[in-house]
Amino acid sequence: MEKYDPKTIEAKWQRVWEDERAFYVDNPEPGDEPGDDFYMLEMLPYPSGHLHMGHVLNYTLGDVVTHFKRRQGLQVLRPMGYDSFGLPAENAAIKEGGHPREIVEANIARIGTQMRRLGWAIDWDRVIAAHEPGYYRWTQWLFLKFFEKGLAYRKEAPVNWCPNDQTVLANEQVINGRCERCGAVVESRKMEQWFFRITAYADALLKDHELIDWPERTKAIQRNWIGRSEGAELLFRIDELDLDVPVFTTRPDTVFGATFFLLAPEHPLVDTLVERSPNADEVREYVRKTMAKRGEERVAAGEKTGAFTGLYAVNPATDEPIPIWVADYVLMDYGTGAIMAVPGHDERDREFAERHGLPIREVVDEDGVLVNSGQFSGLPAEEAQQAIVEWLGERGRGRPAVSFRLRDWGFSRQRYWGCPIPIIYCDRCGVVPVPEEDLPVVLPDVEDYRPKGKPPLASNEEWLNVPCPSCGGPAVREADTMDTFVDSSWYFLRYVDPHNDQAPFERWLVDYWLPVDQYVGGIDHATGHLLYSRFFVKVLNELELVGFREPFQRLFHQGWVRQGGSKMSKSRGNVTAPDELADMYGADAVRLYILFVGPADQDMDWTEEGVEGIARFLRRLWRIVGEAASAPEGGEGGPLVRKAHETIARVTDDIGRRFVFNTPIAAVMELVNELGRDPAAPGARFAAETAVSLIQPYAPHVAEELWSRLGHERLWEQPWPVADESQLERETFELVIQVNGKVRDRVEASAAESEEELIARAKASEKVQAQLDGQEVRQAIVVPGKLVNLVV
Ligand SMILES: [Zn+2]
Ligand SMILES: [Zn+2]
Repeated sequence: MEKYDPKTIEAKWQRVWEDERAFYVDNPEPGDEPGDDFYMLEMLPYPSGHLHMGHVLNYTLGDVVTHFKRRQGLQVLRPMGYDSFGLPAENAAIKEGGHPREIVEANIARIGTQMRRLGWAIDWDRVIAAHEPGYYRWTQWLFLKFFEKGLAYRKEAPVNWCPNDQTVLANEQVINGRCERCGAVVESRKMEQWFFRITAYADALLKDHELIDWPERTKAIQRNWIGRSEGAELLFRIDELDLDVPVFTTRPDTVFGATFFLLAPEHPLVDTLVERSPNADEVREYVRKTMAKRGEERVAAGEKTGAFTGLYAVNPATDEPIPIWVADYVLMDYGTGAIMAVPGHDERDREFAERHGLPIREVVDEDGVLVNSGQFSGLPAEEAQQAIVEWLGERGRGRPAVSFRLRDWGFSRQRYWGCPIPIIYCDRCGVVPVPEEDLPVVLPDVEDYRPKGKPPLASNEEWLNVPCPSCGGPAVREADTMDTFVDSSWYFLRYVDPHNDQAPFERWLVDYWLPVDQYVGGIDHATGHLLYSRFFVKVLNELELVGFREPFQRLFHQGWVRQGGSKMSKSRGNVTAPDELADMYGADAVRLYILFVGPADQDMDWTEEGVEGIARFLRRLWRIVGEAASAPEGGEGGPLVRKAHETIARVTDDIGRRFVFNTPIAAVMELVNELGRDPAAPGARFAAETAVSLIQPYAPHVAEELWSRLGHERLWEQPWPVADESQLERETFELVIQVNGKVRDRVEASAAESEEELIARAKASEKVQAQLDGQEVRQAIVVPGKLVNLVV
């Protein structure tokens, strides 16, 4: 048998698959019932650069699932596209000195080549790119639907401004007070902005977590971000303005202790108050200075600074006038941006009061009973909470309320490279949506697209000035563009019907394929893309454009991939591009390696030595299977056949049930080792066929070639092997059972038992039950094949 030559083999099979359209999937016929469909999706790449090993992990994992499910008889949709609008691509273009379109399209071509070189099973008929008018026409169409429903609106608001990128950022794009993209310290500015009313869906976004099978930590991140808290909204009267200002508090029981009133510097009332303020200059100067500081700095600052407006609000419980201050530690992000300060029972309010000589009044004593609280004195705080809200309610000064940390999603950007917002401003008619039949509003070419603080499109007079669609008078287009997270909030729907030029998609087609059965992507998208997509689908569901409420049924987060240390071979010039590595070692070696190096949900380091090691395994597989190919067929039993069945059982369970991808490779390696001892032994052929069949999702090219050398055809269409139960040897071991780290029992267990089964076995032990004595097990730590430790 000739030498293993990955390059030739891989090119050969990639040609065959493309000629046969092996991984393209037809849409159903109208009336087809869903059932055997499976939608496999990985987050799409930004074409701001080329693919790196992180992408290789993500897409190879998706590929293994695709092959596995296909061979289990499911019809698998596995599309791919490009998130080609937005800051990453535009910044790359500025750096490289070209037009974003040219840079993006060159990158898309290169990424497409890389993807094909890696042999991923993709339906290339469904490719979409966010910057193509055929796609963003429908992004604009969806915007219009949101606008009609009042779910997209424009208002002046304090926004996060990145001075480096010269654009507004969503709250989700600010990490510890810095721009997520460039790390610059974010400033607060007041600007007219477009928002999506995601807050109207805050409760639904929380509640529908129960519909989806996502990692608990991701749900927790979203829950925390949405930040629901129950309390009361109380009205504080400001007589000078003839206004009741609502304040949200989780502690209405402390209202008798509210001795001053605070506004965030960004609060819309501040401007009006300043006009009436005897301290106008001082307050104005204070506001100017704090707005330039970043949020993180403001909150963390040791000194609680503020400016007294000289005006008073009325405490709704005591009817006392209390001074109104503007203070930097109050943020617009939380509640209403106005708070009742209770220095007796809030650490930060106390610091502020002490610094500025404001009164401090205790209203709850050490036993949690109200004092100094009028007729409520003597009541326990919890009871008082409800009674006070009721009492204020009767006086029209309060009501029970729920508050969310989540803010509406600001999505307009003062940048060039994005989807134009289909809105026209007319002096006579106001804000006029572009009529549907005039879509798409095409992004025009401009000479200078670099950010200058005002949108580059505003300088393009020819594009900007249009007749008003409503009255025909002179009008101007909206020059802001959409955040690219709008583009990616619905791309998974377009894949299903990518060539439709009458609608974004047919409802029956999305209802057939969606929700996505398995989504794979980074956990860093938990509060951005993953929340936005859920919001979009909820709105589309209400608009009856889709028949489901959640986009992604199951979610998996891959770990981060780093390149290991300085071990890269210098003579080769530190090869890091996956396609170049594939040229050197074979795509199969790169694919196998990235899943072998560690559990896919953990961070990992990759080294070129590691890829070399896997390439050696493939050469060994090639040689041993080649030898076994001449062994006779058959062989009913024997150790090799048993080993093959065991391997089938392990690999199937790992991929299918546990969603673990490194251990199946180790299992196949073990089988190949056994086979290598005597490739002519009884059952050798079966073992060889099994090894090849099981490694196929990972290394489809070499597997296909070996399969044909074993005298068979079209492995990619072969049913996934099923283990013969009667051949499975039930290995047993002594399971050590601990309670809080102390050994309490030893029992016999089967090697085939799952972690859940081992835990159940541990809990069932009489000795353990005596120890537990009815206490709840808080955690169970399982070391497979060894022990279970129950923590109480
Ligand atoms: Zn920035
Ligand atoms: Zn008009």
